[in-house]
Amino acid sequence: VLEIKDVIKRYDGKNAVLDGVSLELNKGEVIVLIGPSGCGKSTLLRCINGLEEIQGGSISLDGEVIDYSKKDLTKLRQKIGMVFQSYELFPHMTILENIILAPTKVVGVDKKSAKKEARELLERVGLAHKADAYPRELSGGQKQRVAIVRALAMHPEILLFDEVTAALDPEMVREVLDVMLDLAKHGSTMIIVTHEMQFADAVADRVYFLDKGNIVETGRPKSFFTSPKTERARQFLNIFE
Ligand code: ATP
Ligand code: MG
Repeated sequence: VLEIKDVIKRYDGKNAVLDGVSLELNKGEVIVLIGPSGCGKSTLLRCINGLEEIQGGSISLDGEVIDYSKKDLTKLRQKIGMVFQSYELFPHMTILENIILAPTKVVGVDKKSAKKEARELLERVGLAHKADAYPRELSGGQKQRVAIVRALAMHPEILLFDEVTAALDPEMVREVLDVMLDLAKHGSTMIIVTHEMQFADAVADRVYFLDKGNIVETGRPKSFFTSPKTERARQFLNIFE
């Protein structure tokens, strides 16, 4: 569904933060993107859903090169959902209102069916009882599960996750990872950026290791985590032992 070819991203005209990155994501596949801080992981996700413009290469969705003009972007973001480290829920809206906002306003789903589906999705992540609560009444892990539900409510073809557990207390990390594992099991197509290596090993069909804006190594998680081919990946994985 997604083909990234030789993508170049510069923020300042000089240094390429992404220096010719290529990646292919098939339907139902889960890619985990790992690499040191500042290597360009977030930038790559932001380029994929059009939050950043690229200076070279191409990104294609369903065989069509994405044109980063305004009109395309709204459509693009319906097809590609993104979940951030900081949940980005609207504080003055209830959980249910947060979830149905985009489906009703952007897609034009009627309120009643949007609410019905929102409640089903909340049920799925164990939060049906929080539908009428406000974000401030939820724990970090609960807010993050709501943020995932809000992305799911748009029925995206692809879901992007940028370190969604990085800001959570350890005891809340598991409940969020479990939601993502469940999505993977049910065939969601996803790119996940994470520093949780055991989770990466469990959820990934394929791991991409990014360093200084380049894909240094890619492979099946079993072989990548047990016997990385590059010295750079070995060094990186050593930090986590
Ligand atoms: P982390 O693991 O810390 O989240 P990352 O791999 O997600 O790191 P990015 O956030 O993609 O890294 O940043 C890659 C590089 O681009 C860094 O050197 C960063 O300083 C730079 N960068 C990121 N956003 C901007 C911006 N808006 N303007 C200028 N430079 C930026
Ligand atoms: Mg990042």
